[in-house]
Amino acid sequence: MSDLVLHEHVFGPRGERVLVRRSARRRRTVSITRRDGDLVIAIPAAFSAREEKQWVTKMVDQLVAKEARRAPARRSDASLRQMAREVSEAYLGGRAHPTSVTWSTRQNQRWGSCTPSDGTIRLSHQLQGMPDYVVRSVMMHELVHLLVPGHGPEFKALMARYPQAEKAQGFLDGVSWAKHLPPEGEDVIGQDEAGELPLQRAR
Ligand SMILES: [Zn+2]
Repeated sequence: MSDLVLHEHVFGPRGERVLVRRSARRRRTVSITRRDGDLVIAIPAAFSAREEKQWVTKMVDQLVAKEARRAPARRSDASLRQMAREVSEAYLGGRAHPTSVTWSTRQNQRWGSCTPSDGTIRLSHQLQGMPDYVVRSVMMHELVHLLVPGHGPEFKALMARYPQAEKAQGFLDGVSWAKHLPPEGEDVIGQDEAGELPLQRAR
């Protein structure tokens, strides 16, 4: 048997109602879910009013933190241009000068691409919520392509100047793996998109 208690005094991260469901089957576990615009928290029926209050606060706080991690502040095109300047200065002696750096929602099969003939760089919108060192690594990859086509020794030597390149690639490989993407073939090197970084590392 379980009863549902409405707590008017508690609000979720976006002002939602918080409903507390006491469950006789629950012994030690608590849970929180979003349902029809409300937050539903399930707790053991045996919890005291004090325990309930503590756990409701704790669960709501955890949800807020979790959702904030998943939706970090959106980075703008302007911040991307600034990042390109900083990365070029720090690791390439300022030699890479992209003519434009933009986010692209059309890049679902690759993290970034560049067109050396006109100096444009595009990064996939899928990178927007990722850690800074990961976004910078993809930026570095595309900036290096403005100087060096392909992924030969010269490319690798320049890329190695970015200290977190390996770590970033590991992060991206993990994301690709989690998305269950089909294995992609080679990193296509064409005239128009000489610098694409596919979602999965070229093998
Ligand atoms: Zn590449």
